[in-house]
Amino acid sequence: MQYIVLDMEWNQPWPGSAAARRPLPSPLRGEIIQIGAVRVTEDQKVLDEFSVLVRPKYFRRLNSRVGKLTGIKESRLQSEGISFPQAIARFRAWCAEPSIFLTWGFDDVNVMRENLEIHSMNAEWTAAWYNAQMIFNAQTDGSSNQKSLQKAMEIMNIRSTRPAHDALGDAFHTALICSKLDLKKGINQYGSALRQHEDGTNSDEIPGCLQRRVYRDYKEKSDAVSAMEGSENLCPVCGAQMRMASRWYRQQSGRMSARVECPEHGNMVLRLRWIQLEEYNRLIRTVYEGDSEAAAAFEALTEKERPTRRRRRGKRGGTSRKKTPEPAGS
Ligand SMILES: [Zn+2]
Repeated sequence: MQYIVLDMEWNQPWPGSAAARRPLPSPLRGEIIQIGAVRVTEDQKVLDEFSVLVRPKYFRRLNSRVGKLTGIKESRLQSEGISFPQAIARFRAWCAEPSIFLTWGFDDVNVMRENLEIHSMNAEWTAAWYNAQMIFNAQTDGSSNQKSLQKAMEIMNIRSTRPAHDALGDAFHTALICSKLDLKKGINQYGSALRQHEDGTNSDEIPGCLQRRVYRDYKEKSDAVSAMEGSENLCPVCGAQMRMASRWYRQQSGRMSARVECPEHGNMVLRLRWIQLEEYNRLIRTVYEGDSEAAAAFEALTEKERPTRRRRRGKRGGTSRKKTPEPAGS
């Protein structure tokens, strides 16, 4: 058994560009253009290194921001880069044996899996993949925030010797951090580190927030939402049953808000965020004071949606799907 510490750089289309609008066979938030990796032995010795440039297929124009950040030039990708399937074959040949993958952050594994998917390639080998940040946090200050690689190196007294935002440089620095952690223990306790991270922020760290709770027991979003409207819709101040005082308003990435009312404490704003992952679901419920910034933002949202709804209703002859409160779980 060995550890492979990985880092990748990926290209993204310029927002609004033709490449950004072109339909793809499967979602791709970033196309990998560089893979850097460092082998760490089971007894945590930093061994050899791997690096490869990948010629992009879907987002061929190098985003100037990515170019600036990574120092990679489009011409170099064209001349030195190899195709993604070739790069993965070379990488896996270098790994040579079943490995535990470690990266700094949650993004890399998802980007890797999306890149494998779009090339119709097997992703099973990525199953044992851990975010080293979580292990670092659990074994240092126990915080749930995501620290930059730079910050973590400072905490561990590791001097930067490689360029940042170069896949191999970042992988090397991450490997140095990993070699100072108890990886075996970190991986054994990864589940609880992850939960701690997800439960994360305390309500008193969020302005105007009276209560923040994380639920994991709901299989279906619709069940979770009806519980939040009913039995779980309790006033964070006095615990009394609250009532829904508006319909749900949807926001980005699974967020929704509504006005709720306690008979004693008046109006508040209830926000839900449903996160559906392959492994499990999670619902984050937050309740905000009626005079908080979050409540003002909610009022602005309801104002903004009103005229649109009226117009739509007119056009569709009164059968707009927004006519009645949306069934929350759909
Ligand atoms: Zn109350």
